[in-house]
Amino acid sequence: MTFSGAAEQLVETSREFYRRGWVSGTSGNLSIVLDHHPAAVAITASSVDKGLITADQIVQVGGDGRLLHGTGKPSAETLIHLAVIRTREAGAVLHTHSLYSTTLSDIYGKDGRFFIEGYEMLKGLSGITTHEHREWIPILENSQDLQKLSGQAEDLLLRNPELHGFLIHRHGLYTWGKDLAEARRHIEIFEFLFEATVMSHSLRSG
Ligand SMILES: [Zn+2]
Repeated sequence: MTFSGAAEQLVETSREFYRRGWVSGTSGNLSIVLDHHPAAVAITASSVDKGLITADQIVQVGGDGRLLHGTGKPSAETLIHLAVIRTREAGAVLHTHSLYSTTLSDIYGKDGRFFIEGYEMLKGLSGITTHEHREWIPILENSQDLQKLSGQAEDLLLRNPELHGFLIHRHGLYTWGKDLAEARRHIEIFEFLFEATVMSHSLRSG
């Protein structure tokens, strides 16, 4: 895929996610891998409003996170994207700050993880063929030290090859896919499952 083709797709995805309430304001960041060896990644620039984003607000970075192309500043969280790409050979990495993922990361923050099971929608996650599946969602402690946080994400993914995503405490969701279509599907599935989980908990306890 060319850089300009990836930039167009990232703009379209950002605006769609903004409309759905998953990347409000300047939150979240989205990337598409252009090449693995050597790494070249198209990613949304730092501090860009995801509802108003344009193609010139997409930048290209190398495997070390340095800017290769474009005028904006790469997001500080680029290092987490690169950790996911290295460990999962992902073709796209998507990071959202939705209400439901943030709420669940708060409720289960002390446990460091929680699971979702029994939902038909779990079959939307890559490789899952039955609702009789327990999907664990780990929660990393939030930090502004992105070197440290990306190292923790990399360790987590290396130790747990079955994961489809992880949360950062009171912050948001990271998921990925072999391409943008699969990564977008994972976001949709996780967001549905998080909302269903929060709704079920609140109705039961209400
Ligand atoms: Zn974030």
